[in-house]
Amino acid sequence: MSDFPDLPVSIADIREAARTIAGAADGTPLVPSAFMEEVTGHPYWMKLEIGQATGAFKLRGATNAIRRVGDVPGVVCCSTGNHGRAVAFAANEAGIPAVVCMSELVPEAKVARIRAMGAEVVIEGQSQDDAQKAADRMVETRGLVEVPPFDHPDVIAGQGTIGLEMLEARPGLSTLIIPLSGGGLAAGVAVAAKALDPDIRIIGVTMENGAAMDASIRAGRPVEVREVASLADSLGGGIGLSNRYSFPICRDLLDEIVLVTEEEIRDGMQALFFEDALVAEGASAVAHAAILAGKITVGGPTGTIITGRNLDTSAFMRIMAGEDVALGEATLKGKAYGT
Ligand SMILES: *Cc1c(COP(=O)(O)O)cnc(C)c1O
Repeated sequence: MSDFPDLPVSIADIREAARTIAGAADGTPLVPSAFMEEVTGHPYWMKLEIGQATGAFKLRGATNAIRRVGDVPGVVCCSTGNHGRAVAFAANEAGIPAVVCMSELVPEAKVARIRAMGAEVVIEGQSQDDAQKAADRMVETRGLVEVPPFDHPDVIAGQGTIGLEMLEARPGLSTLIIPLSGGGLAAGVAVAAKALDPDIRIIGVTMENGAAMDASIRAGRPVEVREVASLADSLGGGIGLSNRYSFPICRDLLDEIVLVTEEEIRDGMQALFFEDALVAEGASAVAHAAILAGKITVGGPTGTIITGRNLDTSAFMRIMAGEDVALGEATLKGKAYGT
């Protein structure tokens, strides 16, 4: 066992989080991939966070933060994606009002889904920044507590329970390959895994376009990068210029960060579907993508996290059929699997 006294989240926090979320957001299956075992030459395990009630792992962090928030008038966030769903769901389950702020550009279907989970939706402005301003105002005027998507100790500790569950089930894992964006997931899992096994190798994987954590670690401080449309849309967004928690943990504990292209993510999504029979977001396929592209070589039993399944099904079907798909203004050329 080792601990990291200088870091803002400890293995004790993660064990506490495991107790806090028990029965609500824990216990997803850890399944083998025969295909990836053949490719890598080592046992390969996938933690299926696509089995969460909201379809993504973010329910762990949101549940931990909300169950620990105490007696407050409510919680607020401004994510329209997997974090927004998680906050709406966890607050509803805890009997705490939740407000999700979003801009006028968010599609009606997303708004309806968050409302259906029992959250109040506040629509303001034309950008994510405007929605964030609305959230800040809710904190000031209504006394709501903001639950951020990654840069919060309770959120990081909640995501870290995934690492605890993986290592408890498979203590021999020697490498973990983790989809990386704001770094709440990688930070939590790294603290848990390195506490249990200091020699374990932790690799973050993200898309080449808009790799904010990678750029920040290289710069030695949080920096902004230009955002580009990606098949791994859940990995988009910055890490926040005033990042206090996920940045220092990722900087200190990640052994490596690997970047994958859109073509590689497409190939990873196809392998995950055609070989492992899993329907998952591009963000979940980056470990497959990096290994199949020869960008990661593993030396022993390996684990990854299949992080979410909240995808645009028609785009997914086109990708599987080898057809072209739109990526913002650009087009990603299609390619049939195995050709
Ligand atoms: C949020 C998210 C990630 C990345 O998690 P971070 O904590 O932001 O690094 C990966 N996959 C999915 C599906 C997500 O929703």
